[in-house]
Amino acid sequence: MSTYPVVDIPTLLQISPQGGIDGRSRRYEKYIGDMEGVYRDNAAWESAVGEHGADHLVYWVDDHRYQEGSGALITGTSTLLPGRYGDEFAMTRGHLHAIADRAELYYCLSGRGVMLLETLDGQSSAIELTPGQAVNVPGHWLHRSVNVGDEPFTTLFCYAADAGQDYAVIADAGGMKNLVVADGEGWMLRPNPDHTGYRAFDAD
Ligand code: MN
Repeated sequence: MSTYPVVDIPTLLQISPQGGIDGRSRRYEKYIGDMEGVYRDNAAWESAVGEHGADHLVYWVDDHRYQEGSGALITGTSTLLPGRYGDEFAMTRGHLHAIADRAELYYCLSGRGVMLLETLDGQSSAIELTPGQAVNVPGHWLHRSVNVGDEPFTTLFCYAADAGQDYAVIADAGGMKNLVVADGEGWMLRPNPDHTGYRAFDAD
């Protein structure tokens, strides 16, 4: 009988600055039709669906994973295409980790974006990222990527394999507390008038 633990095999991952991993476990794609209710300007979203078709690609993710346990990491790239819906910039759905204390690293590989961050009890942060810059997202922070540039915004991410994603927490609150909107050539935060506050959560 072996007295050694089962171990996974180290794997070389070839990462493209424009997104994509040779050696990935999976790739998934999000289409504009999947984004219903995400943007506050629903008419602008509907108009974009009409213009581009519901199967128009808006972001895609490659990831690499081995085991599911709390000690393992999921590593991947996220590529968010540029766009505008009214004055809101293109963004991901955003989430809180299902195991909320799990942290995540986002390192910008290309493009220009903002990591929009909020806590359930009302704290808020927005950190702009350009290539070479990273955000170490602590546990208990909801996070969403926003593309505030004209090119695809690609990040390398890494988080605990057991973290999971809770997307409903944002949808149930009428969206995040802040919107990232156009301001001249740049961006600014604007309070989301539809935001109701996040639902109560168990202290444990
Ligand atoms: Mn995450």
